[in-house]
Amino acid sequence: MKAVVLEAKKLRVRNKPRPVPSAEEALIQVHLAGICNTDLELVRGYMDFEGILGHEFVGIVLESQDNKWAGKRVVGEINLVCGRCVLCLSGESRHCPHRSVLGISGKDGVFAPFVTLPVENLHILPDSIEDREAVFIEPLAAALRILEQVHVREKDRVLILGDGKLGLLIAQVLRTRTDKVFCIGRHPPNLKILRKRGIETLMRLPDKKSRYDLIVEATGQREGLETALNFVKPSGTVVLKSTYAGKACLNFSQVVVDEIRLVGSRCGPFPPAISLLEKKAVEVKEMIDGTFSLEEAEKAFAEAQKPGVLKILLIP
Ligand SMILES: [Zn+2]
Ligand SMILES: [Zn+2]
Repeated sequence: MKAVVLEAKKLRVRNKPRPVPSAEEALIQVHLAGICNTDLELVRGYMDFEGILGHEFVGIVLESQDNKWAGKRVVGEINLVCGRCVLCLSGESRHCPHRSVLGISGKDGVFAPFVTLPVENLHILPDSIEDREAVFIEPLAAALRILEQVHVREKDRVLILGDGKLGLLIAQVLRTRTDKVFCIGRHPPNLKILRKRGIETLMRLPDKKSRYDLIVEATGQREGLETALNFVKPSGTVVLKSTYAGKACLNFSQVVVDEIRLVGSRCGPFPPAISLLEKKAVEVKEMIDGTFSLEEAEKAFAEAQKPGVLKILLIP
């Protein structure tokens, strides 16, 4: 099969053997996949990953030992965990130290016609969710992770830094808890998607006196954290969503003096993401800025890196 492979920091479309599922795994035919910022960072050297890229997908189960899965349209969680360690047994399996991560670490990803995943990672989709929406479930789950970590109150003022793919999903998710959600970005078409849904948007940093109970840093840039610290209320919370190759340098005294809570936030729960899409409570299709065939992967990645471009999809 043809697959999008990352080797020696170079992206290539090349032939790979079709994967063979283990006893716990299903063989899935990938219908549609999404390019995520993490994929762009992996190409820049984040995680030193080599193999087939891609972790956002929707597909159909072709084979599995358990018959209940065959023919089902599914999405899949990206952490492949041991199920036996202390973290797995205490409900923190996303942090399993023995995990591999689909298309990110130790496991070939979904930018290919076929992929294998443990059946315990799969979620069956209702017919009312289109493929073009379902590819957003993994990043939408990552946005929902914030609600598991931070108690967002109706009176809270929330600021999201960044109008990229994840920023737009986070703004919409937090808007389900408070109507005081603001998003700062640089791209008018992206911000318009939020304004249509009653979310206030800003093109430049607010007045220095504006402070927020919760700030979510989703700029993908190392400068984002410093900006977040400038606008968070004392004893407020800053959620960090950006991962990048490289390090941030910061004076942490303000975090101590103002007793700021810093919360790292990564993968989240799929069932509420599926249910938000089912209820049409979140707009995702407007975020699709292009669809490419797998052979055009290099072009698709170049497009995905352009400033302001939101979701680019690949059809294997
Ligand atoms: Zn992702
Ligand atoms: Zn484990």
